[in-house]
Amino acid sequence: MTDILNYINGELLPAQSNDWLDNYEPATGEVYSRIADSDAADVELAVQAARAAFPAWKRTSVDERARLLSAIADKLEHWNEALAEAESMDNGKPVWLARTVDIPRAAHNFRFFAHAITQWPSESHAMPDVAINYTLRDPIGVVGCISPWNLPLYLFSWKIAPALAAGNCVVAKPSEVTPMTAFLLANICREVGLPAGVLNIVHGLGSKCGNAIVSHPQIKAISFTGGTKTGEHIARIAAPVFKKLSLELGGKNPTVVFADCDLDQTVNEVMRTAFSNQGQICLCGSRIYVERSIYDKFRDALTAKVKALKVGDPMDAGNQQGAIVSKLHFDKVLSYIELAKQEGGRLLTGGHTVKPEGRCQNGWFIAPTLFENLAPDCRTNQEEIFGPVATITPFDSEDEVVGYANGTAYGLAASVWTTDLKRAHRVAAALESGIVWVNCWLLRDLRTPFGGVKQSGVGREGGVEALRFFTEAKNVCIKL
Ligand code: NAD
Repeated sequence: MTDILNYINGELLPAQSNDWLDNYEPATGEVYSRIADSDAADVELAVQAARAAFPAWKRTSVDERARLLSAIADKLEHWNEALAEAESMDNGKPVWLARTVDIPRAAHNFRFFAHAITQWPSESHAMPDVAINYTLRDPIGVVGCISPWNLPLYLFSWKIAPALAAGNCVVAKPSEVTPMTAFLLANICREVGLPAGVLNIVHGLGSKCGNAIVSHPQIKAISFTGGTKTGEHIARIAAPVFKKLSLELGGKNPTVVFADCDLDQTVNEVMRTAFSNQGQICLCGSRIYVERSIYDKFRDALTAKVKALKVGDPMDAGNQQGAIVSKLHFDKVLSYIELAKQEGGRLLTGGHTVKPEGRCQNGWFIAPTLFENLAPDCRTNQEEIFGPVATITPFDSEDEVVGYANGTAYGLAASVWTTDLKRAHRVAAALESGIVWVNCWLLRDLRTPFGGVKQSGVGREGGVEALRFFTEAKNVCIKL
C-alpha cells in the first residue's frame, strides 16, 4: 500500500502526527493507499520552508525558472502513461481521458507558463517633459494553492505553474479525494532539481489542512478552485486580513441549441458537454435548452447517444464512462436523481446505478442520466449536481432562452450552437458567463481569461491574468 507523503523543503515526509487517511479507488470501492493526514503543524513547516526559499527563488532569473518548469513538463510527458493510470485509479475517470486530456494538459500548463514568464513585458507610462512611470511586478512571497478532485493534476498545475513562474514560493494542497498525482509530481520536482522549499505539497482534509493554509498569516494570497460554499468560507477568513484571493467556484452551465445548428455534430458535442468525465467538470453543460422546432428530433437523437455510452472499468479502453469519484459524491448524485423525479422530471435514460462484472462490481458507477419536463427554476435546474445528470428543455425565442440561461446563481461557462453568426455574437454578449463557447466546448487557449461571474467565482486565471494575480504591481514615478 503506497503512502502518500507531504513534500516539504524538498523532502517526502509523513504528517508530524503520523495520522493517515484512507485513499479509495472509486472503480472498486476499496482502499488502495493512505494519505498523510496533515494539520496546522505540517502547514507551518511548509510555510517556513517556503519563506526560507523565497529570497533566492525571487532572484532566480526568469530563464532559470522557465528551464525548471519546462523540465517538469518534459517529465510529465515522459511519464504520461504511468500518470494517466494513477489518475484514473485515483479518480475513477477513464484512463484514455487521463492519457489524452488530464496529463498532457498538466504538462502544457507548466510549459505554457515557462514560456509566458519569459515573454511578459512590464508597462511604462511617459508624461512628456514631466516624468516617466514604470511598473514593477514583484512576486507576492508565499502563496497557497488549493485544488479540487475532478481534474486533479490538471487543475493543481494550473495554479502552481504561474505562481512559481512569477517567482513565488508555494504551499499547495490537492484534494484529499485524489492526492496521488500531486504526490507523483513531488517526485518529479525532486528529480528535476527544483530548489528545496520552492514548492511544498501538504496533503489532508480541507477543514484541517486546507483551513490552516487559508488562515496562515504568512501566506499572502490564496488561489482556490472548488465548491462555492467552500469559497465563501475561505473568503470569510481571507477578506478581513486583506489576503489576495482568486476563487474558481461551481457552475450550472447552460447549453443553448438553436434550430439552425448543424444537428448531427451538435448532438455529439452536446453529449460530450454534458457527460465528459461523468459530468464532473466544472464547465460541463448540465442544462440543455433546445429550440422547439427541433426539440423532439434533437431529444430523441441525444437520448439514443447517451443510452449507448458504455459505463464500466475506467482501465478498459472500451468504456466511455468511468466511476463517480467517491461514495459521498455517488450518494449525492443519486439523491439528485430522486429529487428530479419528485420534481416531475421524465426520465429519458439512465437514472440508476451500474454494477459491472468482475473487479469493479463494488465500484461507484451511475448510468448517464437525462431528464425532460423540468421547470427552469426547479432545484434540479438550479443546483450544481456535478455528476452524469442533465436536463433538456424546449424554448421558443432567443430572449426566453437567454433568460433561462442567466436564471441561476452561477455564471461559469455556456455553450451556444447556431450557424447564424449574428445570433452567435448577440447571445454570447447577453449571457452572464465568464466563458462562452460557440459551436464548440472545452476548446482551451491558455492565453485566454478563465473564470466565472456571480457565484462561480472572483478573479480570472489563465495567461497574463494568472501572472498578474501572483504578483504585486508597484509603480515607480521618476520626475524628469
Ligand atoms: P471542495 O470545495 O469540497 O474542495 C476543494 C478543495 O478545497 C479541496 O482540496 C478541499 O480539501 C479544500 N477545502 C475544503 N474545505 C476547505 C476549507 N475549509 N478550507 C480550505 N480548503 C478547503 O470542492 P470539490 O468537491 O473538491 O470540487 C468540486 C467543486 O469544484 C464543484 O463545485 C466544481 O464546480 C468546482 N470546480 C470549479 C472549477 C472552476 O474552475 N471554476 C474547476 C473545477 C471544479
